[in-house]
Amino acid sequence: SARLLDVENLHVEFRTQAGVARAINGVDLHLDPGETLAILGESGCGKSVTAQAIMGILDSPPGFVTEGAIRYRGVDLLKLPEEQRRKVRANHIAMIFQDALSALNPVFSVGFQLAELFRVHRGTSRQEARRRSIELLDLVKIPAARQRINDYPHQFSGGMRQRVMIAMALALDPKVLIADEPTTALDVTVQAQIMNLLAELRRERNMGLILITHDMGVVADVADRISVMYAGKVVEEAPVLDIYARPAHPYTKALLESIPRLDMKGQQLNVIKGLPPNLLRIPAGCPFHPRCAYARDECRADPPPQQYDVAPARTARCHFWTEVVGDEPAGS
Ligand code: SF4
Ligand code: MG
Repeated sequence: SARLLDVENLHVEFRTQAGVARAINGVDLHLDPGETLAILGESGCGKSVTAQAIMGILDSPPGFVTEGAIRYRGVDLLKLPEEQRRKVRANHIAMIFQDALSALNPVFSVGFQLAELFRVHRGTSRQEARRRSIELLDLVKIPAARQRINDYPHQFSGGMRQRVMIAMALALDPKVLIADEPTTALDVTVQAQIMNLLAELRRERNMGLILITHDMGVVADVADRISVMYAGKVVEEAPVLDIYARPAHPYTKALLESIPRLDMKGQQLNVIKGLPPNLLRIPAGCPFHPRCAYARDECRADPPPQQYDVAPARTARCHFWTEVVGDEPAGS
């Protein structure tokens, strides 16, 4: 049977005054019901753009999907007529963002905003919409939901506001939930609570969950698989335990070594030198070569293909992955 979500050879361009920015250059991703996929990388590597393409918010200038397929249960959304495509996305794929305050409407109570979703998309009566809205706030563990439903977004703390946004995303019972840096603006304790809530909801509802983050530390406990992105490509994909124990790509290894560790308090963190490439001018060969500790001449000349023989269910895009995997695990 068809996968829940299957992204194949996705390409996205931004046509800017300075030229064509190649934001996504052949991304493959897949997701099954009940599974959590983390998409990892520094900002500017294509994580959010991938999510936006799946959500269909890049169908107009300046961003364009120029190639590839985005299949939901076997149906390529990019080939559906506009109207149907919008319907599938509204009813089956939902997204939450880093900044709940700007995603919620400041002039309406959260109860009104939730009820509006039911009324518009389900034709639910006012009373029933209110009942369901309270149910949703309960579901995301907002205390005293029956009272808080009348509050406005600014009356909630950052963590509680993020829960409101999760409630809104869940209102129409999506099968795929995409969370783009959902906890980046929150303090560490609240981060963990929100991650655990997402993991729990994913389990209870058998949703496919895509977690987008630049921080390998926050997804270790909740992700099943990880796809690491660099310069608009997936450079490594692996089950979570394998990737933490033995990264096969130098970029993944460098990301792992930059996770702050409690036992290293006060010590200099090993941050990756340099920046992700300007997408108007992606370096020839392997785009990571200017920053890579393993780079040699071959890397500057030939782009590495995606290697499927790293291990079952693992791929890496590096000429020298055998060497990387064979090195001491990060942090030992
Ligand atoms: Fe580094 Fe070369 Fe591998 Fe690219 S192909 S990640 S430059 S070793
Ligand atoms: Mg982003």
